[in-house]
Amino acid sequence: MTEDPCPRCRGTDVAVLDAAGPFSGPLYAGFVLRPRHCKGGAAPPLQFSACLACGLVWPTVDPEALRTAIRSQGDELARQRLDALDRGPFRDLPDSDAARDIAAAIAEIDALIYSRRNPVRRYRELRGVTWDQAHADVKAWPGLTREQKLELFGWPPSKKRRDGSDPDFDAPFH
Ligand SMILES: [Zn+2]
Repeated sequence: MTEDPCPRCRGTDVAVLDAAGPFSGPLYAGFVLRPRHCKGGAAPPLQFSACLACGLVWPTVDPEALRTAIRSQGDELARQRLDALDRGPFRDLPDSDAARDIAAAIAEIDALIYSRRNPVRRYRELRGVTWDQAHADVKAWPGLTREQKLELFGWPPSKKRRDGSDPDFDAPFH
């Protein structure tokens, strides 16, 4: 891992700190940081750096190792979020208004659940379903595949699924 400048004062005199004393060893054995919506395992090890000019201390992690941890240990929501960060919310849809509306709605629910806010009311508004249905769908949401979510929001439109063509599309699937 390379030494970055201090995020506060941009100073380049940076020391690496190793855990020592009462915080090392068995006392910390059960303490792990885990990416949100990931089961088992842990985030890659943290490296702590300290600025020798202003004293700020900050942790870093190997980003590729973090991505690998999310891909291997994350649930659908965690892995889809990584995919959305890399390829955008409209990644697998044609460039049409209908597709964009659906992708935006799914991204909104994903974001609410990921940030641990209650998405039931918003989900109900977006889909026009009953409270019971909204609660059931939201409960299942973190485990739903991207395809299942698209289908819940009516994509692809059912009348067009039968023959595979869609005259309303502005652009073909890609
Ligand atoms: Zn500094």
